[in-house]
Amino acid sequence: MSVLVTGGAGYIGSHMVLELLDRGEDVIVIDNLLTGNEWAVPDRARFYRADIADAAALDAIFATHEIDAIIHFAGLIIVPDSVEKPLDYYHENTCKSRYLIQRALEAKVESFIFSSSAAVYGAPGLEPVTESAPFAPESPYGSSKLMTEWMLRDVAAACSGFRFAALRYFNVAGADPGMRAGQSSRRSTHLIKIAAEAATGKRDGLQIFGNDFETPDGTCVRDYIHVTDLARAHYCALSYLRDGGPSVAANCGYGSGYSVRQVVDAVKAVSGVDFRVNEAPRRPGDAAMIVADSTFARQTLGWTPELDDLETIIRHALKWEGRLGNRTGGQPGD
Ligand code: UDP
Repeated sequence: MSVLVTGGAGYIGSHMVLELLDRGEDVIVIDNLLTGNEWAVPDRARFYRADIADAAALDAIFATHEIDAIIHFAGLIIVPDSVEKPLDYYHENTCKSRYLIQRALEAKVESFIFSSSAAVYGAPGLEPVTESAPFAPESPYGSSKLMTEWMLRDVAAACSGFRFAALRYFNVAGADPGMRAGQSSRRSTHLIKIAAEAATGKRDGLQIFGNDFETPDGTCVRDYIHVTDLARAHYCALSYLRDGGPSVAANCGYGSGYSVRQVVDAVKAVSGVDFRVNEAPRRPGDAAMIVADSTFARQTLGWTPELDDLETIIRHALKWEGRLGNRTGGQPGD
């Protein structure tokens, strides 16, 4: 049996492919390379350069390979873009997921793992958020993820052979400890990526968006999860579903929060580079604090984080950034 990974040439998808290959799985990747990189797909995975809505490509994949599980990462992820172009996000993330789920049913795929987001909760307040917290997405991006979760829920209720795990990611960062993959986006808006670019001289500094939040130091608090631990959580979800576990939604974070200022100070300390930092106004839509209660993933999926350490996440992110060369993004060694 093979596992189909959509968006397997992207940041999280490429780490998932490595995790699956390391575990001896047969891996098929489909990616349109809109934001992914072909070089990020290891030779041992079979690669199809195509969109997930490309009927002929999916026909070929399902005709050629015996796929028992799909791990679905493909989609758009830039929250401010989703506010400007909501229909693009509903098309790419929701409509295309609907199509993929339909094809999964037709192909009798039994297990479906979906890349969801803490954005389904919106601004959850100052306590760690559990899976039963109210849904209150504050962007079309968050809504597009939630709508896909709802489609999966309804399809699983209607079709007894189909089960899913929706994994709600908190702030994903870091790189493969063996430096086989990392965050290579040319347009990332994420704090640790931007700080790593500043520390490696690709930017002349960074801005802290808002210092008047209701948090201990006034800057926003987030739960940063190492991308390799996140990939392992998916593998736990895959094993859980293959063992017959019922459909689930699970938070993927560590349950510990760090402020923007703490992250920036940690990047400076680990890199030894004192890059310029400016205090800037709040970024629209930022919540003061978003931290996971990940008890459910640990207990039900059997997930045990192994890289739960901010310094380790930053060290791996910095090492990868150094390998990317002088440009923002690009192929390692450029
Ligand atoms: N942030 C910042 N400067 C930056 C990028 C991000 O101050 O250049 C802050 C952002 O306002 C938020 C936190 O860092 O409070 C995490 O932002 P990120 O975009 O990494 O993830 P998000 O939590 O928005 O998904």
